[in-house]
Amino acid sequence: MNPDCLFCKIVAREVPATIVHETEETLAFRDINPQAPTHVVVIPRAHVRDAAALAEANPALVGAVIATAATVASSEGIVDGGYRLVFNTGAGAGQSVFHVHCHLLGGRPLTWPPG
Ligand code: AMP
Ligand code: ZN
Repeated sequence: MNPDCLFCKIVAREVPATIVHETEETLAFRDINPQAPTHVVVIPRAHVRDAAALAEANPALVGAVIATAATVASSEGIVDGGYRLVFNTGAGAGQSVFHVHCHLLGGRPLTWPPG
């Protein structure tokens, strides 16, 4: 737990969030500023700053985060329509919370490239 980290506070239930799924290692909650009909943030409970650091420290946990995203995609009913998983990595790519997270986006057509 990093006491200055918003997502650690969500894990600790110190900040409220709409949690849609949790496992021993991961947590999935609705994004407060959704960019698609389904926009869920999936995080490891452990504090790690970004996807690259997580891959280095614990590759299996990267798999656990993606597996949770896939479970939520299924429960949200967005598998047939397709969905997008995004790990913004670094401020220049839009990362604003430095606790690694996977955005799960779906429920509408998603264009590529995203812009
Ligand atoms: P990023 O910009 O990739 O770091 O993503 C951080 C995401 O967290 C953004 O999409 C925010 O809308 C979302 N967010 C920020 N605060 C909260 C919160 N309290 N509950 C849920 N989502 C949040
Ligand atoms: Zn954290």
